[in-house]
Amino acid sequence: KILITSKSFGQVSDQPLKLLNEAGMNIEYYNKEFDEMEFRKRLKECSGLIIGSHPLTEGAVKEAPELRIVCKHGTGLDNIDLEIMERYKVKVDNVPAVNSNAVADLAFSLILDVARKTSCAAKSVKEGSWEKVFGVNVYSKNLSLIGFGEIGKNVARRAHGFSMKVFVYDPFLSVLPEEFKDYVKPVSLEEALSVADFLSVHVPLNHQTQNLICLKELNMMKRGSFIINTSRGGIINETDLLAALLSKHIAGAGLDVLEKEPPNKDYPLLKLQQVTITPHMGMYSFESINDVSMIAARNIIKYLSQ
Ligand code: NAD
Repeated sequence: KILITSKSFGQVSDQPLKLLNEAGMNIEYYNKEFDEMEFRKRLKECSGLIIGSHPLTEGAVKEAPELRIVCKHGTGLDNIDLEIMERYKVKVDNVPAVNSNAVADLAFSLILDVARKTSCAAKSVKEGSWEKVFGVNVYSKNLSLIGFGEIGKNVARRAHGFSMKVFVYDPFLSVLPEEFKDYVKPVSLEEALSVADFLSVHVPLNHQTQNLICLKELNMMKRGSFIINTSRGGIINETDLLAALLSKHIAGAGLDVLEKEPPNKDYPLLKLQQVTITPHMGMYSFESINDVSMIAARNIIKYLSQ
């Protein structure tokens, strides 16, 4: 028996579900508003779990003695405590890389949007205005990437088409792959911050990266620069970001992820024109959701067939 709690699993085609059915899996969906007790009840007799972004608690795992594998429907494993899973001998899997083009597209669209204020201007036209809105060029500017994994690399490839100079801070990058040598420069965090016209964050959320960008780091950026986060809420401190935006030190922000999702209606960042917020939809292209769902299904089948 498999429990699926990711809202988007199989949303764009029935192929992944077919795959699980053909492998003889008995599938249960639980993709309504998340309730821990209801979730625990449903997980009790399951051998496999395809999980979205809600937390997987020790209590839930403890009450599910049959559970052998959890596969994240996506990349970031920050909602799963790997030590707990090891203790209960539950295998943890994810689906890396396949959503990286979709997330990179969104990150780049946020770069363009905060630079040219596209979504803001489009909204004002629908409200009856025809005022021109000034922006800044993206072409040939400096882009700093924090994290140079699958998504960071795909953002760099897009930036190259805009003749941007790309600076990368990633302490785990031992060798810069040949394809990037002409236009990507590995630098320290300080240099990445200080040279950026645009800064885009692509690291996992963990103890090292939580609050990686606070007021001190924002103040090291140029006045008038922009910041993009399609990674996870909590990596950029949002109270500090708000202060940097209000003082106009940071000219704008494009955020696909927030510390609290969804935010409260009166959340201050929602009220700023220079901030574009999207609903954590980085991997939501038809192609990406289908590919991620198919691979998650295959991972579960492979492990449970052993
Ligand atoms: P990845 O594992 O390929 O790359 C992460 C990179 O971050 C690695 O190169 C790693 O060396 C680097 N890194 C780790 N700690 C660092 C630190 N302290 N400082 C600088 N660099 C550090 O992952 P990816 O596929 O590129 O995804 C990155 C993150 O994007 C995921 O962890 C996930 O949280 C997020 N994500 C968001 C969406 C969305 O819908 N918005 C979708 C997929 C992934």
